[in-house]
Amino acid sequence: MNLKQETPHDHESLFDQAWEKTQDNFFIKGLNSGQKIEDLLPQVAGFKESFERPLTRLDCSDGRVCPGTGKMGLPGIDVLLSEDQRQVLINEIKDQGLTISGHESCGAAAIAHPGADSDDFGYQHAEKLAQVSGNKYEKIDHSRFKSSIHNERLLVIEGTKKWDCANWEGFPPQFINSAPALKLSNETAKEGNKALTGIALGSHGFSEKRFDSKNPFYIIISAEDQRQLEELTVLAQEGITEMSEKDGKDYSQIIKIDGFIAPTE
Ligand SMILES: [Zn+2]
Repeated sequence: MNLKQETPHDHESLFDQAWEKTQDNFFIKGLNSGQKIEDLLPQVAGFKESFERPLTRLDCSDGRVCPGTGKMGLPGIDVLLSEDQRQVLINEIKDQGLTISGHESCGAAAIAHPGADSDDFGYQHAEKLAQVSGNKYEKIDHSRFKSSIHNERLLVIEGTKKWDCANWEGFPPQFINSAPALKLSNETAKEGNKALTGIALGSHGFSEKRFDSKNPFYIIISAEDQRQLEELTVLAQEGITEMSEKDGKDYSQIIKIDGFIAPTE
């Protein structure tokens, strides 16, 4: 619940301000001018360090939710997962000393369980997952959000289980889908990509009012090797094609895919 009443005008000006701020970002400028992410990344201080912090958190992919260092992300944690995939996740994170969080106004929880109690649904799922996997649970309310609105300019598909891009100052506000890093299926990763991209392009995000062919939404793939980079690129492309077919419009001009292979010492 938003306790502070905002008129639609206030809301739009918040988005406009956040958009202008991200327009000045080094990576956004570089990508918009046609440069490759693999060339841009090493130019900013902290890149190597962003691969050296242990990943100790599993939070929602939501860019507003980043309550500590070492973030992995899944949309709504496990709310969108099938029972089989939930089991894969439990095995992967069993007794890893992670902190798993549920958060206020979760878009993925609202997809999985629409209605006034969708947040409670998300909290219960995250808490139960933490219990059965032997990890810690934490509830995050909006006072701890990094941004009051969805200001994500890109989606990171994380395959390395090493990249803490969310805590790298200077990297643009982002969704993180760590499904490949957490050994979840390609289908799960793809559905997550589509849900998160849909939030960015919809009325809760910067939306199609702002993303266009000159200022696209970027999908950035962080891969451990060439094989994974190619596989996740194909997967991201399939997601865009499926979204375009479903909505009867061509998203290929306003969603661009780029990727890189993670540094090895
Ligand atoms: Zn969420």
